[in-house]
Amino acid sequence: MKRKLLIALFAAISLAGQGQEDVWQKCNESLPADIRIKPSRCSDNTHESDGIIRYTQDGDINTQYHSQYIGKKFVVSPENPAELTFDFKKVKCIDYLEYVPRQAGENGIVLEAEIYVKTATDKDYRLYEHCEWKFNYNTKRVVFKGGLQKPVSIKFRILKGVGDFGSCAEMKFMKEEKENLDISVFADDLLTTLKPQTTKADIKKIKQPLLRQLAQELLQGTYATDYRVASYECYNHPVLLAKEWRTPNKHYDQFQGVTGIVIKPGKHLVMASGIPDSVSAYMNVVAWYTEKEVHGKGPDQAEITTQKLHNGINIINYDRKLEGLAYISYFSKGYAEANPPIRVHFVGGTVNGYLTPDKTNEQMHQMTATAPYCMIDVLSKKVHAVWPTDGLHEHCKADDDVSPGYRQYMNILDTLMTWEQRLVGLEKYGRIPRNRTLLSTSFFYPALCSTPLGISIPIKKQQRYVNCQKILKDDSETVWGMSHEWGHQHQINPFFCWPGIREVSNNLNSYYNVMHMGYKFEQLQKEKRKGMEEGIRHYLEDDTDDCLFEVKNIYDHAFERLGPFVRLCNYFMNEGGRPDYLPDLYEALRHSKVKKQGGNIVPFVLNFIRTASDVSGYNLLPYFQQFGFLRAKKFLIKDYDYALYELSQEELEAFCKDMEAFAQEKHLQTMPEGMIERIAHTPDVEYKRPHFEN
Ligand SMILES: [Zn+2]
Repeated sequence: MKRKLLIALFAAISLAGQGQEDVWQKCNESLPADIRIKPSRCSDNTHESDGIIRYTQDGDINTQYHSQYIGKKFVVSPENPAELTFDFKKVKCIDYLEYVPRQAGENGIVLEAEIYVKTATDKDYRLYEHCEWKFNYNTKRVVFKGGLQKPVSIKFRILKGVGDFGSCAEMKFMKEEKENLDISVFADDLLTTLKPQTTKADIKKIKQPLLRQLAQELLQGTYATDYRVASYECYNHPVLLAKEWRTPNKHYDQFQGVTGIVIKPGKHLVMASGIPDSVSAYMNVVAWYTEKEVHGKGPDQAEITTQKLHNGINIINYDRKLEGLAYISYFSKGYAEANPPIRVHFVGGTVNGYLTPDKTNEQMHQMTATAPYCMIDVLSKKVHAVWPTDGLHEHCKADDDVSPGYRQYMNILDTLMTWEQRLVGLEKYGRIPRNRTLLSTSFFYPALCSTPLGISIPIKKQQRYVNCQKILKDDSETVWGMSHEWGHQHQINPFFCWPGIREVSNNLNSYYNVMHMGYKFEQLQKEKRKGMEEGIRHYLEDDTDDCLFEVKNIYDHAFERLGPFVRLCNYFMNEGGRPDYLPDLYEALRHSKVKKQGGNIVPFVLNFIRTASDVSGYNLLPYFQQFGFLRAKKFLIKDYDYALYELSQEELEAFCKDMEAFAQEKHLQTMPEGMIERIAHTPDVEYKRPHFEN
């Protein structure tokens, strides 16, 4: 009986919540919003087949226009600009345009451009503005003072872009919708309080329904500010971190400012304050679930929109079909801590909430039961995970496999990331960022993978990957998998990620994380154990001329190739008395100065041998020769793209001599007899499983 009553009561509360939501949504519809004007025709003088101009008008910042780069490169310059032409029919006025740069990668981001306009009264195009923009990912706005009346065509001529390319994620032509919003009854610039002595009558006079509703609720004391009003700290841009870490195109979370607010299609009032002049702030809406593959290219199927925020009133017109979650992007190009936090108020925003370790498991279990959006943010100290809400509710169990395990799960994520960052030297060398890394879900891609957004786990695997008992005790593959993908994010490219080890060097992270989790070597997947052992045995016992990097397929013998790296690190980190061998090696590789020589990987292999020796205190050349790093051979490698291993007998001999000189200069010891075998037979180190608080 009691239970029935509770259910009934709960249903009533939910209904009330629903009603409230409808009220706000109706109010939102009454907001004025700028209108995007679509050109009647778009054309260009150069493009790549996967970078057509239509992508500048699809409302998706993940697709982009790109000047030609395959075959004969179109070198963008003031003498040879990339020209994007947008024609308009029966358009009365355009008030401003916005150039939205690509949001991942750098090529083609426009640094200098000319905007030519032609209106019904112009005979020909005339130069409206010459723009010089700094390299960043922010939207650039060009205002047509007084409005561009009866526009016929606008030409965007790219004179200079990163890498002598031109690219453009979105080109928006906008018409302003002006309406005075009367905010005189509010006491603060975020509209969270009323001026003293505000009366019902004052509020009745407010014409704008959304502001009237807000003022009414504030007066009654019924307005809930949780999640709707919050502060957001500034972070260093993930691209900057990748540059510092030498992990090109591997980015930490680009959605640091988690809001827990659902954005439905339509208009929204977002108040902002404290945005400094020197840094831009944006609001992203991410539709994590998209019903279908967006690009048909793999796991990155989230639909992302971006809107610049200004201090004061921002009317967001979210013109997508699917609802998404809001994120505040507030990134600087270094010295993030020097920038003050900004404050944002989503007026009447729909609250989804997000999980954090300061909440109780019971609170979070309630949240995953009632959150309105199909996905929910999980925010631990180091990881931002986004999971389907109902899957999390059902499967996020503690290590007893029964009780809700949200806190334990977040502790596990943080610990795995701590180990990960420690192994690659970020901790020892003071490089740990405040930024989190992103773990999201793919609905269509069947395997775990590293994406431009972070790492991604297929929805079908959620049950295993959020269950603490499985991660901690039953399923070493979950730890291996996540650590492998995070390993990709930390791979120093190409100095410890040359073709031939792209799916290998990051498995050092997997191996160590699995072992630190207290798994025994025997509990590793059979294929991995056998592979590592066979790799060692083959190069040690067989009289072989094989080269370790002679692979025709990315995953060919991946674990055989891993064996020699694991044993070397195990030896020095345990018996060899250099517990920081790997962190030191990563940091040393981070300072590599080797130049590319065509597609030949040999310079990177030699650099690795030198660096690994230097960090160990030994001339390790004999070890690497034994394990097939150096062979006088030439062959093609297929590891994502094609590369070459080319080393002549003369070059090999010259390198051996060089190593001798290097060893003398660095006072490296000579490997005594039997040391190769000792390293190769270093036992796996077993660790005790840590305790994870729930
Ligand atoms: Zn991989």
